[in-house]
Formats: sequence, C-alpha cells, structure tokens
Amino acid sequence: MPNPKAAEVNVIAPLSIDQGQIDHEDSGSLCGTVIAVQANYYWVQFEPSTLPVAVLTAAQGDDVLLLCTRRSRLKKIGQQVMVGDRVQVEEADWAGGRGAIGQVLPRHSELDRPPMANADQILLVFALAEPALEPVQLSRFLVKAESTEISVCLCLNKCDLASPADQKHWGDRLAQWGYTPLLLSVHQTVGLDAILQNLSGKTTVVSGPSGVGKSSLLNALIPAVDLRVGTVSGKLLRGRHTTRHVELFKLPTGGLLADSPGFNQPDLDCTPTTLIHCFPEARRRLEGDACQFSNCLHRDEPGCVVRGDWERYEHYRIFLEEAIARQSSFERSRDAETTTKQKSGDDGQISTEPKLEAKKYRRPSRRTEKQLLLGLYLEEGEKDEGD
Ligand code: GDP
Ligand code: ZN
Repeated sequence: MPNPKAAEVNVIAPLSIDQGQIDHEDSGSLCGTVIAVQANYYWVQFEPSTLPVAVLTAAQGDDVLLLCTRRSRLKKIGQQVMVGDRVQVEEADWAGGRGAIGQVLPRHSELDRPPMANADQILLVFALAEPALEPVQLSRFLVKAESTEISVCLCLNKCDLASPADQKHWGDRLAQWGYTPLLLSVHQTVGLDAILQNLSGKTTVVSGPSGVGKSSLLNALIPAVDLRVGTVSGKLLRGRHTTRHVELFKLPTGGLLADSPGFNQPDLDCTPTTLIHCFPEARRRLEGDACQFSNCLHRDEPGCVVRGDWERYEHYRIFLEEAIARQSSFERSRDAETTTKQKSGDDGQISTEPKLEAKKYRRPSRRTEKQLLLGLYLEEGEKDEGD
C-alpha cells in the first residue's frame, strides 16, 4: 500500500548527478544536521566538508539535503533522532535525494518541548508595547528558559513604540534581574545586526508569547525563510505548527534558528528546591553565602540569605507555590499507583488484592491501541529502508 505521508514529503528536486561516479569516490563519513522531522522521515542538511567533490560540484553552492530514514538498528537500541541531531548518513542516493541515518552523534543539550537536540541558546523575544510588557509573564518565560540550563538571550522588540525613558526603565530593571536585553525594532530594522552577531555560529531556539514579533523577526533575519533552499519547497514543513513541531533555518551569517511554537507555553517544571537557581539575581546571593538550612525554600526559614527586597522575590514566591502544588499532586498520583487495590466484599470487609498486570490481562485502552497502531505505521516505513 502506498504510504501517503511518504508521497507528501517526496518533493526534493534531485541533484543531476552520476551516482556511479560518487560510488567510486572515497567519500568517508557523511555528516549533517537533522533540520526537520516529519513522520518517520528526517531532512538532513550536510556539512559541505564531508561531501564528495562531485556532489559539491553538482549542488553549485546550494545547501545539500537528503530525505532520510532511520536505520532499524538505531530503533532496536532505542536511539531516537531529533531535530538538531548531528548524524552520519549511509547509502546516500544523491540522484534520488534519499539516504539512511546510521548513527547519531552525542548531544550536548536536549529539550523536550520542542523536541530538539544541541540547542546552544534560547532567544527570548518580548515586546516593550503592544502587548504591554508584563513582568510576571516575562519572569515565567525566563525561569522556564533558565530551567533548561541552555543560555538565554533576551530581546525586547517594538522599541519604536516605547519612549527613550521607557526603554531605559526596562534596561535598568532587567539589569537588576541579571539580564542585559537587546533592544530591537523589526519594523525600523533597529538592533538586527546585534542579534545576528549573537546568533552566528550557534543553534538558537526562538521563544516568547504571541504578538511580540517573532515571525517578523524570523522573516527579517532569514529573507529566504519561505524558500529554504533552491531544492526543497519551503512550504513543505510549514503550516504544521503543532507544539511538537520544530524546524531549523540556516542563518545567512552561519548558525541555525529554530522556529517552534512548542516553547511558547511555559509550563514550569522545576521542583521547589531547584526553582531558586532559575533566578540569576538569587544565584548571586547564594554564591556569596549559604542559607542556614540546606533544604531552605527561602520563605520564613531562619538564616535564609535569599529572602529579601529584590524585585522578583515576589515572582519566586508565586512560582514556588505552584511548584509545591505540582509536587504534591505528583506524589498523590504516584501513591495511587500502588501495585495493590482495595476491594470491599459482600460482607463489607475491605480486602487488598494485587492489581492485574496490564500486559497480560487487561484489555488495552483505546489510547494504547492508537499508540500501537502508530508504532506499526512507523515501523512499516522503516522496513522499506532495509539494513
Ligand atoms: P509573533 O506572534 O510573535 O510571531 O508576532 P508577529 O511577527 O506576527 O507580529 C505581531 C504584530 O506585531 C504584527 O502586526 C507585526 O507587524 C507587529 N510588529 C512586529 N515587529 C514590530 C516592530 O518592531 N514594531 C512594531 N510597531 N510592530 C511590530
Ligand atoms: Zn534560604
């Protein structure tokens, strides 16, 4: 049965190239970066230095991409492939535009929302006006970004709508929070060079609430954003903006930019004890001194060095209450998932009996069935690749 998804992604214009010529060339290992994932297919953009000369010549300066499957041996060892992964590709079919990922190189960072490997930096975009800058919301995004341990670059867009006094106010205020924001106006092309400089050579994921100008910024930074490269339709992977979708764009100055809405809903996931480390201004206090109690949550504990009159202490307290509530609800649901269940008999006696093991006796739920089907569908695609 033809795979409709496979047909949908097969829009690469193949290189006009003599495959035999390349097969005779000792090409060594082909390395590239996964720039987009669709179903179980991966777009890999190659590092030119690893490409055979004949391929480089045929590409005439364009980026070289192949649509790849994942070797089933990778699946067997549970090796996932994510956007941002550096991979080695085997059996490249340059004329057909296909290949197979044979190895995933070690990652230096990993995000789960959006699912992305090797991000170096988070570019957090807010606006000085329209929508008005809301401090708790900004804090929440900053804390979320800090919790990933990936470095954060904060920029404030729409400075054309803010008075110089307002701009100074926010610059000074954020300096107290531990950040040096880049001021930006995409409309008046102010600050774009500074941002490009900051992004060059890095893999950056863009984040921020809607309406602040993220898409405008992306379009300004990458003029060819809708025409990714000569050979691939840019529309191909656009319009699939689910929170799980992520796609990397090459910057003209070098470096990659990820456009993903997945990072725009900052559900904090810090534990009550780790939360404080997501505030740079509190980290500074803790570097200088330690609280009397090692498990201090910095509320009313004696000998606390964090509690104090810093602006975001209030935000810390809001997020702390959330983290505590999240942790207790997690613990409650974990306790409910014990291996036994209580049953009251006809005589009113409560007895405890073991739960049935899901695998052996319980009918799979609808959702599990769906997941199984999806798994089969994905496997189907992978069988085609052989090994
Ligand atoms: P996104 O939701 O973050 O992707 O924001 P968009 O890029 O869609 O922009 C939202 C609105 O802000 C649009 O009407 C843009 O034209 C406008 N906008 C973007 N950048 C600027 C800017 O620098 N100044 C002003 N005044 N408006 C801007
Ligand atoms: Zn403390």
